[in-house]
Amino acid sequence: MVCARCGARSEEPRPTWTCSVENGVRVHFCDTCSRENLRAIEGRLDSAWW
Ligand SMILES: [Zn+2]
Repeated sequence: MVCARCGARSEEPRPTWTCSVENGVRVHFCDTCSRENLRAIEGRLDSAWW
């Protein structure tokens, strides 16, 4: 698994990592980037909502 954001690698599946599908492609984010990505997603939702 490779983090799509920072490029961190993990040999084993990490339950703390987030898997999301963007444009039909499955991408993984490490736990650090998951938090930042989550904030970005929430921000995007907010701006789209309003
Ligand atoms: Zn990362």
